[in-house]
Amino acid sequence: MELEEESLENISNDFERVGFGPLYNENSSLKGKRIKFLDTTLREGEQFPGCYFTNSQRIQIAWMLDFIGVDAIEISPVISSNHLEACKKIVKAGLNATIVAHGRALKDDIDKALECDAEFVALYHSASDTQLKYKLRVTREKAIERTVSALDYAKAHGLKARITLEDASRADPSYLVEFAKRLEEAHVDRISLPDTVGIMTPKGMYNLVKTVRENVNVPLDVHCHNDLGLALANSIAGLEAGAEQVHVSVNGLGERTGIADLSQTALVLKLLYGADVRIRFNMLFELSRLLEEYTRIPVPKSMPIVGDNAYKHKAGTHVAAVLRNPKTYELISPKTVGNKRKLVFGGLSGKNGAEFLLKMFGINVPSESEKLLSGLKSLGIDLFELELTDEMEEILKKEEFLSGMEGGKV
Ligand SMILES: [Zn+2]
Repeated sequence: MELEEESLENISNDFERVGFGPLYNENSSLKGKRIKFLDTTLREGEQFPGCYFTNSQRIQIAWMLDFIGVDAIEISPVISSNHLEACKKIVKAGLNATIVAHGRALKDDIDKALECDAEFVALYHSASDTQLKYKLRVTREKAIERTVSALDYAKAHGLKARITLEDASRADPSYLVEFAKRLEEAHVDRISLPDTVGIMTPKGMYNLVKTVRENVNVPLDVHCHNDLGLALANSIAGLEAGAEQVHVSVNGLGERTGIADLSQTALVLKLLYGADVRIRFNMLFELSRLLEEYTRIPVPKSMPIVGDNAYKHKAGTHVAAVLRNPKTYELISPKTVGNKRKLVFGGLSGKNGAEFLLKMFGINVPSESEKLLSGLKSLGIDLFELELTDEMEEILKKEEFLSGMEGGKV
């Protein structure tokens, strides 16, 4: 069994890992393209029901995100005096990541960003008729005027500014393009196109971004909500259509069912699409657990990459195969993302699982393993799981430990 953390480039080029899969996946326009990550755990993430951070947690999270390599960290200074204080401290911390102060397209919110000494603001304004009518009660033209005037104010104060066209995916495309063009004329630095209610298919998100892309020459962000489980797929589709920054949060935290998860987005873009992603992958598990501890919102066991089950093998045939070579059932090594490999012993362990268990206790008698197997089967439950430490994997590497065990029998 391999112990080393593998580089993701090596995995992509390792035929035993990827097989013929890449033939079907084909090359994407994202291959080799630098993708920027904006992490919004401190803004969108705190909108997850039940989630609140203390200021020292906010600062610690910002440090971790910066260390892990995200390009921008979004925080809203306008929520409370605590948020304002946290934003000031994070701006002062001198991180590599751009600190983006988030607020409404209003003078008061821009003033709060200025108070924090932020250099970049993100101002949001609805763009769909439903939100203009029921949430803001303004006309389409008034919405553009208001936003351009807020943008002018921000630019006049030396700020760089992103405008988020909230609910872009439900907006009239011709109005959305008109809105974006007026922002471009007013020298906006970025435009974010969110799928606010998760209504898009990947093809739809591709077409939405492409439509705006073809009409303005402004860097675009994508921000996809996960109401129907398509946040990750839609984010990738938006990037393929020409957006160059993706919004993510740790553990996918966000309003309602959240947005695209940092770990999954980074890994999918790097490993499956070959994009230029500058994230420290071996820190992903630790960052996920830090957020679990701070928010007390459990990471689902089935969560890809950082979930407790991500590298846990249960069926006897799987365990036997993984013991011989993890490539049989793992696309990437758990070490690559800071997670751990685990084996489950119980009713589904099979002959090899039973033999393995006895060998762990130094018993190498086939008749005993038959008895143990029949006992495990009659129990019909998972008895326990074993986390494979580095030391244990060293023992397993020795061929004699596995010798005599038959592959593939349950
Ligand atoms: Zn959102």
